[in-house]
Amino acid sequence: MRTRDRRRSGSNFARPDIRCWLCAALVAAFGAQAAFAQQPPVAFVDAAAVVPGLVIDMRYAGSHNFVGRPIDGYQKPRCLLTRAAADALAAAARELAPRGLVFKVFDCYRPVRAVADFVRWAHNLADVAGKAEFYPDIDKRLLFREGYIASRSGHSRGSTIDLTLAETEGRELDMGTAFDFFSPRSWTSDKSISRQASANRAVLATSMRGHGFQSYAKEWWHFTLAREPFPATYFDFPVR
Ligand SMILES: [Zn+2]
Repeated sequence: MRTRDRRRSGSNFARPDIRCWLCAALVAAFGAQAAFAQQPPVAFVDAAAVVPGLVIDMRYAGSHNFVGRPIDGYQKPRCLLTRAAADALAAAARELAPRGLVFKVFDCYRPVRAVADFVRWAHNLADVAGKAEFYPDIDKRLLFREGYIASRSGHSRGSTIDLTLAETEGRELDMGTAFDFFSPRSWTSDKSISRQASANRAVLATSMRGHGFQSYAKEWWHFTLAREPFPATYFDFPVR
């Protein structure tokens, strides 16, 4: 969105302008924000320490993902989230516990450098190692165009989570597709999956929405805290 620039009107443009002080302040503020974004701010926590029963399966820290290797920026398999998102997830987990269910997370905070790694991978059409498991029905050239890979991710803002439901013993509930299966079958409303899988997706979505998260129509596993504390900051500190 653009805002109209009214400053270049009349003689004001040539005059020494006290609004340049404002420009300087803005530059300083943005500079501070960029530096800030390299370090984990105190508002971030390890979700495993906050969310009861949380099962951690950080796919991009290992090789079981669509790229087939650890992704840039994931030095440890930790689920880092803003305190607000972790607290909301903890409340949802406490509500699910009496039903014998826990959350299992696949991705949490994602550094900007990891997103850049995905983009580089998407442009390397020769690398299709993960195709059979993650995108058997779609040409790799279309992953970018059809929105499966994007040059920016809400995960970098720290309040977005990819997750599923599991029984307390660790067995994942059937959600109709696996995590990161690039297909319309992963759309939340897809009708080709079983009735049980649809019901399981609904339990997950209802639980998350009940605690302030918004679902995403094209990925049953992806949720963002609606009132996220950093709606415009994309962080790039590594996960470690
Ligand atoms: Zn996601």
